[in-house]
Amino acid sequence: MKKEEVISAKELTKIYRRGSEEIHALNDVSFAIRKGEFVAVVGPSGSGKTTMLNLIGCLDTPTRGSLRLNGTEISGLKEKDLVKLRRENIGFVFQQFFLLPTLTVRENIELPLLFNRKDGYKSKIDEIIGLVGLKARAEHLPSQLSGGEMQRVAIGRALVNEPKIILADEPTGNLDSATALKIFELFRNLNSQGLTLIIVSHNLELAKIAHRKIYLRDGQVV
Ligand code: ADP
Ligand code: MG
Repeated sequence: MKKEEVISAKELTKIYRRGSEEIHALNDVSFAIRKGEFVAVVGPSGSGKTTMLNLIGCLDTPTRGSLRLNGTEISGLKEKDLVKLRRENIGFVFQQFFLLPTLTVRENIELPLLFNRKDGYKSKIDEIIGLVGLKARAEHLPSQLSGGEMQRVAIGRALVNEPKIILADEPTGNLDSATALKIFELFRNLNSQGLTLIIVSHNLELAKIAHRKIYLRDGQVV
């Protein structure tokens, strides 16, 4: 039986305009990602990796083509519905961590729940802190953490709304290779618990940890 497709893109195209210049960041790209897959997106700088991730994550909208997220066609959705779809499905992790410096590890992870706290959220936060390996650091500030620990906080924050898909854009780009490997092992662990992962990486060694690679070049899948 064919497993459920959580993402399905058909002839997905993104054209940026810079003055009179048209930049074809993604060109007629088609792909599908099934529930529970761990996919690495690789390719040279400027090949469209970030554009692809931002479209999947509803941070940007395609110029043309079809993109279905959990069965919902995103083109033509109103901003409000796009935000809802993103919140219910997607967790984001970035290269630069984007932690708030005056908040502790625990508070940074809690942040997405600021306006949406359900009973028992504190035990959920404790569980996530354990899952990302930060039990001993929960009350520390970001300035007291290593790069790897900061990225663990960002991963914890991405998990807090119980997303179905985690999108990570060069999550280990600022980390040394031993730390990067540990972060990929954390991703593998999350994937084995059923989470779908799409991770952009420059590092082909690390990308081998994924089940499958999507290679991009000049805005096309090769
Ligand atoms: P990658 O993440 O693989 O390095 P990107 O998706 O960031 O590639 O970029 C793909 C192409 O689109 C590049 O040529 C880049 O300069 C261009 N591009 C990306 N974002 C914008 C933007 N907001 N405005 C104009 N051009 C952009
Ligand atoms: Mg990029």
